[in-house]
Amino acid sequence: MLKVLAFSERKELLEELLSFLSERAEEIDIVCREGFDPSGFRVKNAYFFNGDLYDPWQAVDLMLRIFSNGYDYLFVGASTLGREIAALVSQKLGYPMESDVFEFQIKDGKPVVKRYYFGGKTVMTKETEAKVFTLLPGSAEIKKSTQSNYNAQKVELTGSAKTKLLGVEEKAKGSVDITKAQIIVSVGRGIGKKEGIDLARQLAVKLGGELAGSRPICSDLHWLEEDRQVGLSGKKVRPKIYIALGISGQIQHIVGMRDSKIVIAINKDKNAPIFNEADYGIVGDIYAVVPLLLKKLEG
Ligand SMILES: Cc1cc2nc3c(=O)[nH]c(=O)nc-3n(C[C@H](O)[C@H](O)[C@H](O)COP(=O)(O)OP(=O)(O)OC[C@H]3O[C@@H](n4cnc5c(N)ncnc54)[C@H](O)[C@@H]3O)c2cc1C
Repeated sequence: MLKVLAFSERKELLEELLSFLSERAEEIDIVCREGFDPSGFRVKNAYFFNGDLYDPWQAVDLMLRIFSNGYDYLFVGASTLGREIAALVSQKLGYPMESDVFEFQIKDGKPVVKRYYFGGKTVMTKETEAKVFTLLPGSAEIKKSTQSNYNAQKVELTGSAKTKLLGVEEKAKGSVDITKAQIIVSVGRGIGKKEGIDLARQLAVKLGGELAGSRPICSDLHWLEEDRQVGLSGKKVRPKIYIALGISGQIQHIVGMRDSKIVIAINKDKNAPIFNEADYGIVGDIYAVVPLLLKKLEG
């Protein structure tokens, strides 16, 4: 019987983790912030802590304390903090760690995981001795059931903090969570100028969708908020329709959108790799094609 402990400081990531694990483990306990609601997930014991986790060492101390109750594996949501905590815990346990896995199975008594490799160009399937895993966000759809009985226990954050919090500054956030969008109009460097974003926005509004972008648009040029970046170092999205405007289709972008149901690409280069991912492709200039689409949608 597989008994696992799961942790994420982020609600959505923990829900994803629980959905992922419910198909793979028989017994699941969680460590979570007070306020998280585990009902709807197959959780046996929920350990609630209060307080902030700016100091990862306190979380490590807590994780080690609870893990010593006897678990096969620890799963942590791969947020920035989660990755740090997981690495520190696995080092303390004296086992290797597998980061950013998106598949986990037990074969012949050993964990076999899948994760992207070479910046997302390949998928590595690996048998491992690891006890600690981080789950890549976007690896599972959140599925809730009607289950609601779990044992709740309060735990304290103890252990000596090794960092001192001097202040908190909120990161500028986009107005939406693109991982939830059903239709995405995604902008690449092919848009050419900042004002071009307005054209893409018109299309997104017309379709009732959301705007997203490639890394050059979101993180380099800042023509869209960083929260809207799709890809390896951005968000993993799975909308019903993904429209790529002037996106070349490099693997680091593709890993963020390849689970979209229908992909429509508009690119003036007929050899652009994005067309390998596209269900529908238009070879043409954004500034010629998008106004035509808008006109068609008007009528
Ligand atoms: C570790 C790492 C992580 C990364 N993470 C990400 C990530 O999360 N997300 C991401 O997107 N990238 C990521 N990248 C960058 C990635 O490798 C690519 O550089 C990036 O995706 C390219 O963005 P793009 O397609 O917008 O631009 P380009 O590759 O420059 O493509 C522009 C495309 O627009 C077309 N075009 C030009 N003008 C027009 C026009 N008028 N009409 C129609 N088409 C036109 C061109 O033919 C071209 O295909 C990462 C890279 C690394 C190394």
